[in-house]
Amino acid sequence: MSKIKLLDELTIQKIAAGEIIERPASVVKELVENSLDAGASNIVIEIMNGGKDYIRVTDDGEGFLEEDLELAFKRHSTSKIEKVDDLLKIVSFGFRGEALSSISAVAKVEVLSKTDGSLSGIQAFVEEGRIKSKKPVGCPKGTTMIVRDLFYNVPVRRNFLKSKSSETAYIDDILYRLALGNTNVAIKYIRDNKVIFYTSKNNDLISNIYNLLGRDFSNNLIEVDFKSKNFNIYGYISNNTFYRGNRKHQYFYVNNRHVKNEIITNIIENKYKSLIPINKFPVYVLFIDIDPSFIDVNIHPTKQEVKFLNQEEINSALDQMLSKALNKNLYIQKVNFDNEDERSNYEELPLLFEKAEINDAKVEIKDKYSDKSFINSPIKTKQYNTEPYVKKEMHTMEKKNFIDESPEDKPKKLLENIRIIGVLFSTYILLEDSIKENFLIIDQHAAHERIMYEKYKKEFKEEKVAIQNLLVPEIIDLSTWEVEFVKMNSNLLKNLGFIVEEFGQNSIILRGVPILFGVPQAKFFFLEILDELKADIQSSYDIKLEKIMKIACSKAIKSGDKINNIEIESLINQLKMVENPYTCPHGRPTIIEISKNDIEKQFKRIV
Ligand code: ADP
Ligand code: MG
Repeated sequence: MSKIKLLDELTIQKIAAGEIIERPASVVKELVENSLDAGASNIVIEIMNGGKDYIRVTDDGEGFLEEDLELAFKRHSTSKIEKVDDLLKIVSFGFRGEALSSISAVAKVEVLSKTDGSLSGIQAFVEEGRIKSKKPVGCPKGTTMIVRDLFYNVPVRRNFLKSKSSETAYIDDILYRLALGNTNVAIKYIRDNKVIFYTSKNNDLISNIYNLLGRDFSNNLIEVDFKSKNFNIYGYISNNTFYRGNRKHQYFYVNNRHVKNEIITNIIENKYKSLIPINKFPVYVLFIDIDPSFIDVNIHPTKQEVKFLNQEEINSALDQMLSKALNKNLYIQKVNFDNEDERSNYEELPLLFEKAEINDAKVEIKDKYSDKSFINSPIKTKQYNTEPYVKKEMHTMEKKNFIDESPEDKPKKLLENIRIIGVLFSTYILLEDSIKENFLIIDQHAAHERIMYEKYKKEFKEEKVAIQNLLVPEIIDLSTWEVEFVKMNSNLLKNLGFIVEEFGQNSIILRGVPILFGVPQAKFFFLEILDELKADIQSSYDIKLEKIMKIACSKAIKSGDKINNIEIESLINQLKMVENPYTCPHGRPTIIEISKNDIEKQFKRIV
């Protein structure tokens, strides 16, 4: 007997469903994307119990024709493409025609839908990919999809789902990303009877960011914009004083589709390397609008990645755009007494929904919206209106006027009207700016490091690194492999002011070091640089160069006492001359600022 069997249609569907419907969040994503594709202006998402039991997505889009409904739940049924060439013109989120068939293979689906032209709507119940029952009902134009009991018929998958809070977090993440990416649609998210957010359809990205991510976020962003023949890049990136402990708040969209692109992430994060501390991540909400024929959206099962056919061109545009924006917008780190810095997960509600408002919303929702009888009775949906019923004014932000100064001008304006108060813990210079009413603290070490770093960099660029010949050259014993390695990098080392020669099979002679530092423990210093280089053998010349410079500078300052001898005033004057006086080469702040206002708040003189 043949051992190969043809699988039945339902088994095939369940297997296929596994690819795109991984968890409740996948259902939410597919349904909201369908609503967006249907041209909705208002979308409401409601979930219960992490979406495991109940997901509802309602839109006011074009709706289903009765004859299309049956087809829509079959595999590979789509209204969005007809032939493979159409993939090059994709502007919709969906195109594979898999989502509805997959969802209905593993959950119980109820649809309510009406098109503009039809007299009444339809209500249908779909199970195991088939329409179980269908009848005409009265309902407004648009579609409501209700997905109940996900994986009820695939117990293994159901058991693999995580806790309610984890599944909820996945859904939150998807919805924040969808809402941020679609400013032309009003999106409301209700979770276990609570309004988590709602956005308006005013096409205003910064207001959307404010509403979804909060004031602290939107206040610390720099607007960016780059136009070219084939694509535009625009959006917001964080300044040097604002960062996070993870990548959660990095939002990147290609033609409004949220995607991940490692190359782009790397380019952006590299730009922040010496601006923000190590292990911290920039935040951004960036969009690329591009002619669809320049991208391939069909390379990932859930379309979370796209391939650019002109990646190089995009990389260099991005690089230029970021350099320009960041250099023009460097700021002193402000001390934040509210300690909002580690807002790293969504459990926290956005600022707009303060307690009172949520309670208000809850009452209204209970009345009008989360009433179970309403949900189950399509007739009542006549009253339903997707516009926010929470009658609160949406917050709109005024667009910031970003300072347009060349980087050379800016430092001169820094620390202008200051009085030196003294030095704290032999490390921190305390300053008062009585005009701006600020209290400033400079970290001598960090500031000195920055000054040295820029000086070194400049000397290197101009090929003028002055070398100090060691009176007694140092013989350094190394492994054969290390000697080879030094030889391989000897050019780089030489350009940086390290004069090294081979000395037998297992040692080298260090004859000179950059004069900038006048380092007495040259050997120790050199070994550290070597170790660092070895650890990162793959890196490009530029990255190695940066690394060496940074180590060199951090080694340049040997003790608190020594740095104290540097005249404070001279340090400040030098700091004013550098390109980026605000952070040390490792991205830590050199200056922090506390406003008089904040101090008074701490003493409860003002509230
Ligand atoms: P795809 O989005 O890839 O086309 P789906 O299985 O998600 O595949 O949807 C199948 C079809 O059902 C879509 O092409 C669309 O015509 C229709 N459809 C799905 N959701 C909606 C909706 N909310 N409103 C109107 N039509 C919809
Ligand atoms: Mg779809």
